[in-house]
Amino acid sequence: MAIPISQMWTVAAYVLRQRLRGRKRYPLVLMLEPLFRCNLACAGCGKIQYPHHILKQNMPPEECFRAVDECGAPIVSIPGGEPLLHPQIHEIVAGLVARKKYIYLCTNALLLKEKLHLFQPSKYLTFSVHLDGQKEHHDFSVCREGGYEIAVEAVREAVRRGFRVTTNTTLFDGADPKSVRAFFDEMMDLGVEGMMLSPGYAYEKAPNQELWLQRERTQKLFRLILSNRRKRWVFNLSPLFMEFLMGLREFDCTPWGMPTYNLFGWQRPCYVQQDGYAESFRELIEETGWDRYGPRSGNPKCVHCMMHSGYEASAVHHTFSSWRGFLETIRATFALYPDPQAAEELEKTPPAPHPWELVQIGGDVRERSS
Ligand code: SF4
Repeated sequence: MAIPISQMWTVAAYVLRQRLRGRKRYPLVLMLEPLFRCNLACAGCGKIQYPHHILKQNMPPEECFRAVDECGAPIVSIPGGEPLLHPQIHEIVAGLVARKKYIYLCTNALLLKEKLHLFQPSKYLTFSVHLDGQKEHHDFSVCREGGYEIAVEAVREAVRRGFRVTTNTTLFDGADPKSVRAFFDEMMDLGVEGMMLSPGYAYEKAPNQELWLQRERTQKLFRLILSNRRKRWVFNLSPLFMEFLMGLREFDCTPWGMPTYNLFGWQRPCYVQQDGYAESFRELIEETGWDRYGPRSGNPKCVHCMMHSGYEASAVHHTFSSWRGFLETIRATFALYPDPQAAEELEKTPPAPHPWELVQIGGDVRERSS
């Protein structure tokens, strides 16, 4: 199954409408975080560092709908925390489907199989399953043995029941490019609709700051992974964003393209940096000093960032900013990026050893929301 034409058309028509209206800054995807609580404790995640009284909060559905209506983006991504721990997540999803929003519910899938009955398959709903590579790599990344198998079983069941399912993968320093390519094959065999990739970012709150990729290392890693592409791989990403990851083109960040709304309000300036909160979406757009962000600003927190949440919208904006951008996107959609030098380097790359022991955190892997 591929991305429905209706979704592509909705996004294209929306972007063209914004451009015709002359809007300089418009949102493409709302990152809606209705809770920070999670049933994993990944080394690279800063969300679960909040104090207990914050972690136990759930955003009410009405507040989620207000934020979605206020923002107006055609796509709503629901990360967290783990959204399936939210006791009213099915009501939130139903309300967004009724609004004809394309939803990407991001989940580690530990609870997905047992909660599937709460949802109806719909072209508007996609489960975006967090899988950071093949079994050993994923379990290491989420600090939980057995997490990969549970997630894969849930993916299989969701696909069988007719749900749209994609994967989202964050790559950290030490990622093994050969293994990542093998992981792509495994995911396509499972029948997922597409795969999303992003390099990690050093959250100030993240417990293990050494994990994160620097810009040059990011480009090298993605060149090895995404050159000499297999035809069967389907990515749920702008093809120009993938060229950006491979170091084939430059973009500046578009932090307003994927604004974040969470328990504290509208987060400035982006999903990964916290520089205060705005009370309304309008205030976020109009009163944020956007010039202070992105690599060209010289902001040290932005210099090495190549996150999906900052640059995917830049790539989409480029696609619709000229005929040239549009044609470049069509060419990139079908390109396989043959690169003998990358193939040779990939061949020589030894399997990456894990610099840390796998640490098991927490109790029952399928811990419930109660
Ligand atoms: S470059 Fe990265 S950290 Fe900086 S504003 Fe953009 S997404 Fe946020």
